[in-house]
Amino acid sequence: IGASIAGLGEMYGKVQSTLGASERILEILDETPEPTHLEPSVGLVPASIQGDIRYEHVVFNYPTRPDVPVLQDINFSIAAGEKIALVGPSGAGKSTIAGLLMQFYPLSGGHIRIDGHEVADYDLTALRRHIGIVPQETLLFGGTIRENIAYGRPDATDAEIVEAAERANAWRFIQGFPEGLDTLVGDRGIKLSGGQRQRVAIARAILKNPAILILDEATSSLDSESEQLVQSAMDELMQNRTSIIIAHRLSTIRKVDKILVIDGGRIVEQGTHDELSEREGGLYANLLRLQFELT
Ligand code: ADP
Ligand code: MG
Repeated sequence: IGASIAGLGEMYGKVQSTLGASERILEILDETPEPTHLEPSVGLVPASIQGDIRYEHVVFNYPTRPDVPVLQDINFSIAAGEKIALVGPSGAGKSTIAGLLMQFYPLSGGHIRIDGHEVADYDLTALRRHIGIVPQETLLFGGTIRENIAYGRPDATDAEIVEAAERANAWRFIQGFPEGLDTLVGDRGIKLSGGQRQRVAIARAILKNPAILILDEATSSLDSESEQLVQSAMDELMQNRTSIIIAHRLSTIRKVDKILVIDGGRIVEQGTHDELSEREGGLYANLLRLQFELT
C-alpha cells in the first residue's frame, strides 16, 4: 500500500505539475489582506457558521471563455463537519468547484448554499472569514514566521501562535531556528522546504479556525518524513470542520465520508472508497488499477 500511495501521488504530480489559474487565484485570495475600508457591508455577516454546504445544479464557465462550459450540473451536499474528497484528472474542474464556494466568480447557473443561504447573499469578507484554504503549493510572504502564521488573525497572542504551530507539527522546526518565530522567511530570509511551508500554512489555518476548509493536497514534492508530519497536521486541522479536499493520497481518500469523481466538469461517480473501488469499469476503479500497474 505504501508504494501505491506514492504511485498515486506521483501520477497526480505529473498531471498537476502545471498549476491551473484557479489554483493561483486560490493562493492569491488566501494571501490577500481583508479590506479595511469602512463601506457598509452588503449581505449577510454571520458571527459563526455551521458549515452545511449544498451545490444545486451548478453550471459555470469562466467569464473570459463564455463558450467553454467548465462545470455542468454539479449537485452534492456536505453536512456540517463532514469531509469530501474531489478526485479526477487534471482540468476536470476540481479547483473550480472548490473556489466557487469562496465566490471568486459568479455562477452561470444553479445555487451554492452555506447554512441554507446563497453564497452570493453573504458579505464577501464575512464569508471568507469562515473559510480556510491550504493550497497545493504554499507561498509565504517575506516577513517573519510569526507574521506568516498570524496572517488572518493579527490580534493573536504568541501563546496562540505557538499552540497553532504545535498542532501543525511546525513548532519543532521553528524552535530549531535561533530566531524562532522572528525568523525571516521568503526571498531575504530562510528558505523553508515544501513540507515546512505547508505546515506554516496549516498553522495559519488552525489559528484562523474556520468552519469550512478547502485543502488542496500537495503531491510528490514532500519527502516521506515531511509527508507524514504534513498528513497528521492536516488530520488535526480537518477535525470538526466541513472539509473539501482535492485529494491525491489514498490515505486521505479512504478516510473521507464521500468521494466525488470529477471528469469533464461533471460528477461522474460518487461514493465511499470501498463502494467506488468495487465498481467494475468505473473511473475511480480505473485510477486505482492504473496506479497499481504503475507501481
Ligand atoms: P482541476 O483542478 O480539476 O485540474 P480546474 O478547475 O483548475 O481543474 O480547471 C477546469 C477547467 O477550467 C480547465 O479546462 C481549465 O483550463 C479551465 N480554467 C481554470 N481556470 C481558468 C481561468 N481562470 N480562466 C479560464 N479557464 C480556466
Ligand atoms: Mg486543480
